[in-house]
Amino acid sequence: MSSVFSQAETMSRKEIEVIQLLKLKKEIDYCIANNAEYGKRLGEAGVTSDKIKDISDIKYLPFITKKDMHSTYPFGFFGQPMNKIVRIHASSGTTGKPTVIGYTQRDLDDWAECMARLCFAGGARESDIFQICFGYGLFTGALGLHYALEKIGATVIPSSSGNTEKQMMLMQDFGTTGLVSTPSYAEYIGELAREQGITENLKLRLGLLGSEGCTPEMRNHIESALHIFVTDNYGMSELGGPGVSGECEERDGMHINEDFYLCEIIDPITGEVLPEGSQGELVVTTLAKEGFPMLRYRTGDITKLVKEPCKCGRTFARMDKIKGRSDDMLKIRGVNVFPSQIESVLMTYPQIAPHYQLVVTRKNYSDRLEVRVEISDVSLLENFAKLEELQENIKSKLKTILGIDTAVSLVEPKTLERFQGKAKRILDLRNQ
Ligand SMILES: [Zn+2]
Repeated sequence: MSSVFSQAETMSRKEIEVIQLLKLKKEIDYCIANNAEYGKRLGEAGVTSDKIKDISDIKYLPFITKKDMHSTYPFGFFGQPMNKIVRIHASSGTTGKPTVIGYTQRDLDDWAECMARLCFAGGARESDIFQICFGYGLFTGALGLHYALEKIGATVIPSSSGNTEKQMMLMQDFGTTGLVSTPSYAEYIGELAREQGITENLKLRLGLLGSEGCTPEMRNHIESALHIFVTDNYGMSELGGPGVSGECEERDGMHINEDFYLCEIIDPITGEVLPEGSQGELVVTTLAKEGFPMLRYRTGDITKLVKEPCKCGRTFARMDKIKGRSDDMLKIRGVNVFPSQIESVLMTYPQIAPHYQLVVTRKNYSDRLEVRVEISDVSLLENFAKLEELQENIKSKLKTILGIDTAVSLVEPKTLERFQGKAKRILDLRNQ
C-alpha cells in the first residue's frame, strides 16, 4: 500500500522547482489576462511572465496584504466572472467587511486534492468514519475537510458545531473513528467523555484539528483524554481555506502542497526575502487558482521552512507551526521576540496562572522587557525564598528560549487585566 496519497508528494526538489516555475509564469499570465486589479498592479511593477526566469524572480511581484482585500471588496481579486464561479466562501473579518473568496469547479477539485493529501498524511483512510464538528457555512474549514475525506473514501458525518450531547451520541452510535474540530472543542469533548464515563465506548483514533493554534502541551492533553493521534494543518480563507500544508505522522513540520502553493519567508519589517531556514513572515502565492488567484499574499504568520526530505518519504517542504503573528512581534535590543515563545515557557510552571503581561520600556537607549505573571499557588506569597527561586528559574528558561535577558515579576492572583475577546498582553512604552 502506498504511503502517500499522490505521487506528486515524492517528486525530487528539481522536479518541484521546474513545475513551480512553469505554473508561476502561467498564473501571472492568467492574472494579467483575467483581472483588472492584477493588470494594474503588475503593469505598475513592470512585471510580465517573461521577467520570471527562476522561481526566485517572484521577488519582482508586489505583495498583497489584508488591506488590499478590504479596498477591493467584494470581488476585486476574482479571476472569473460569476457565471464561472460555483462557490463563494468568506472569512469572518475581525473588523468590518469579510474577505470574499470565489471558486471555479477546478478550484474545488484542486482543493479536495490538496486537503485529501494532508488528511491521508495525518493517517485518515477509507475505513474511517469522520465526524466534522466545524461549523458549516461561509467558513472554509468544514467543507474543506468534507470533500477531502470523501475523496479518500472515508465516511463523513457532517454534524457541524454545537449540540455537544448529540455529537457524543452520534460518536458512540455511529462508531466515529476520526474527529475534525478545533483543539479547544476536542478538549471539551474529552472532558465530557470522562465526566460521562464513556471514553471507553468511543472508537476514536484520529484527530485532524485546526483553525486555531495548539501547543504541544494541549495536544498531549487531548491525545491522552480521547486516546487519539492528533495532527495539525494550515491554511486560510485568502488562500482558499485549509489545504496549504499539514503534518504527516512524523509530526516534524507541516508539508506544503508545493505544486499548488509557492511559499517564501520575508522580513516582516523590510519585506526582503530571507535566506533558507530563516524565521520570518510567510508569503504565499497560489500556482493554479482560477477564482481567487493570490500572488504574494502576506499571511502575517511567522514561521520557517525546511526543504530536506522527511522521514515519511514526502519531499514537499515543511513549515514550522506558526510562532505568532507579525503584528505581535516585538523587537527587543534587535532580537525578534514573540509572545507565544514566552507563553510556552510560562505554561510549563504549575505554580503560575496563564495570565501575563509584557511591558517594554527604554532607558539609556536600551530596551527592557518585563514579564509580569500571576502566581496561582498563593502559599508561595509567604515564602520569599521559594518565590525568588521560581523567579530566577523562569528568567533563566526565558533566556534560553529568547536569547535575551528579561525581568520577571510575579504578581498576586487576579491582579492582571482579563480579556473578553483577543487578549492585549503587550504594553510597549518605548515611545513615551
Ligand atoms: Zn513527512
